[in-house]
Amino acid sequence: MSRIAIDGGEPVRDDFLFFHRSSVGKEELDEIAGAFQSGWLTTGPRTSLFEERFAGYLGGEGHVVGLNSCTAGLHLGLVALGVGPGDEVITSPITFPSTANVIEHQGAKTVFVDVEPDTLLMDVAKLEDAITPKTKVIMPVHYAGQPCDMPTIMSIGEKHKVRVVEDAAHAIEAKIAGKHCGTFGDVGAFSFYATKNMTCGEGGAACTNSDEIREKLVVLRLHGLSKDAWRRYDKGGFAHYECVAPGFKYNMMDIQAAMLLRQLEKLDEFAHRRHQIVLRYDAVFGDMPELRVLGRKENVTHAHHIYPIMLELDRLTTDRDGFLNAMQAENIGVAVHFRALHLHPYYRDKYGFSRGDFPHAERASDSLVSIPLYPALTDNDVESVIGAVDKLMKHFKR
Ligand SMILES: *Cc1c(COP(=O)(O)O)cnc(C)c1O
Repeated sequence: MSRIAIDGGEPVRDDFLFFHRSSVGKEELDEIAGAFQSGWLTTGPRTSLFEERFAGYLGGEGHVVGLNSCTAGLHLGLVALGVGPGDEVITSPITFPSTANVIEHQGAKTVFVDVEPDTLLMDVAKLEDAITPKTKVIMPVHYAGQPCDMPTIMSIGEKHKVRVVEDAAHAIEAKIAGKHCGTFGDVGAFSFYATKNMTCGEGGAACTNSDEIREKLVVLRLHGLSKDAWRRYDKGGFAHYECVAPGFKYNMMDIQAAMLLRQLEKLDEFAHRRHQIVLRYDAVFGDMPELRVLGRKENVTHAHHIYPIMLELDRLTTDRDGFLNAMQAENIGVAVHFRALHLHPYYRDKYGFSRGDFPHAERASDSLVSIPLYPALTDNDVESVIGAVDKLMKHFKR
């Protein structure tokens, strides 16, 4: 057997395969040039057009508000729903920190519900036990691009008069019975960060079916200035803006929207390639005893944002971090989505969490590795990822 690269052997490939590369090209560049030539760089006509088109993509029933991040969307969702000190917000411990950070920004209490061991989605069977009279919002996370059980979450929300803000950062293309993730709750937030399924480097959007919430989001994203303040520079009668709330600087600019207009047109093609890669990974990793792939639900559209594998640490002579370093040495970029948030210092210390509180999340936290999954991967790239995992599993197996 060949020696592994971290021990001085030959890596599976000569050049380093990045964990992620964005698929952006001439179309995006041309549209950005259009924004430059128009002289209008910040929130304006391209942002409005993107909002309209993305709302159409999501099924055409709701409103989309362009923002500078998904985090902004999650935060504004909580602000618009009136979350504040004394309130509790329920979310998953297997998520990016910003999902819970925004709860803390509002002075509310973060309440975690453990995940299902196979899908790593919030376990809806445990959700009702976490609801108290103080619970104001449930924030499900469509982890990896797989839809949470939204029909059940929505009916639990209705029963207890609790609102829902969906973290749809991974779930742009995800659907349940034809209905897009992000459109079930009171607010859904999407990310267009560099690694996400559609990108403008940094960006996000909030989606809502409510006219009233839409108005709030539009005002709050731009300093709390009265509606459509960006139009103050338009021709037409001069109109003063008025500050009606202490809002935020969360608006999307037209340079971002320019990229997104072109990315949106490529999304189906991207999704097709992601799916092809997932099928190849599934075929190989589905029956490797040293690792587990995520459980998949039937009859849903999965956005396949990331491909996490969970190492069966009992069967290996290394731990997750040893595996990560060995993969990087093989010239394959890897990442971790995510280490359980309740064990990060801020949440652990503030709430007194410890190991044992959310066992399924902790097991995932210790064993998760994400391997490259993006449309720009060639078939050879995919085979080199498989080759590296296979080589390391043979090396590290007990
Ligand atoms: C990326 C991500 C976010 C944050 O998105 P930004 O656009 O960077 O603010 C939130 N939640 C999850 C699950 C994410 O992966």
